[in-house]
Amino acid sequence: YEKEKKLAQTDGLTGIVNQRFFLELLRIEYKRSLRYGHYVTLAYFDLDNFKQINDRFGHNTGDKLLKTVARTIQKQIRETDIIARLGGDEFALLLPETNYQSGQAILLRLQQRLKTAMEAYSPTVSLSIGVVTFLTFPNSVDEMLKQADSLMYKVKKSGKNRIEYQVFNPALDV
Ligand code: C2E
Ligand code: C2E
Repeated sequence: YEKEKKLAQTDGLTGIVNQRFFLELLRIEYKRSLRYGHYVTLAYFDLDNFKQINDRFGHNTGDKLLKTVARTIQKQIRETDIIARLGGDEFALLLPETNYQSGQAILLRLQQRLKTAMEAYSPTVSLSIGVVTFLTFPNSVDEMLKQADSLMYKVKKSGKNRIEYQVFNPALDV
């Protein structure tokens, strides 16, 4: 039974949490943090120029790269942090109890490690990352995801290979 549960919760290629289970975990974290007024940081990662890797070196290499990215992040985060593959070349990172400053420390470390790990594949592959920290929360988990996704998309549209941060905190509102 444990084996079946694990299969249903993880991504077949990379072995990290899959999209469905990630949404479940995010829902729990959302309710808990909303109720107790705790910070949550959510990051969206998307590989830049991933299609070129597949086209030039084949899907095997593309798959290896995705596995490398997953493993590199997994090794660099706490057991209480969750990294998931949302599909394709998209990943999401859930950092409970993590404010803007800590989120920045983590993402900068990850960016550095991933750069080194990905250089072995191609100089053109990089990451566009959107990082959103919540103390005030939107009305739904979908909205949380949308915020992180659109921030990542902003990076994509403005030259890629960068991290963009945003904070939702009533104390910062004017
Ligand atoms: P863990 O908390 O599950 O963290 C796993 C790995 O994520 C760490 O491996 C490290 O590579 C990275 N990591 C987590 N938090 C931080 C951080 O605040 N800064 C940095 N630079 N990296 C971080 P590592 O270092 O081999 O540690 C293995 C385990 O040893 C950790 O698992 C944790 O249980 C414990 N540990 C290590 N250092 C500390 C510490 O300063 N305080 C506490 N409470 N535990 C520590
Ligand atoms: P740091 O690496 O500059 O991290 C600063 C703060 O960012 C940490 O404060 C923590 O709030 C947050 N942070 C960094 N990495 C992670 C992460 O992977 N997951 C989560 N959830 N939060 C993270 P904190 O906990 O007071 O730690 C202060 C310093 O202690 C860290 O500075 C780091 O130098 C060291 N440290 C703490 N835990 C670990 C660990 O597990 N492994 C290693 N290598 N260093 C650790």
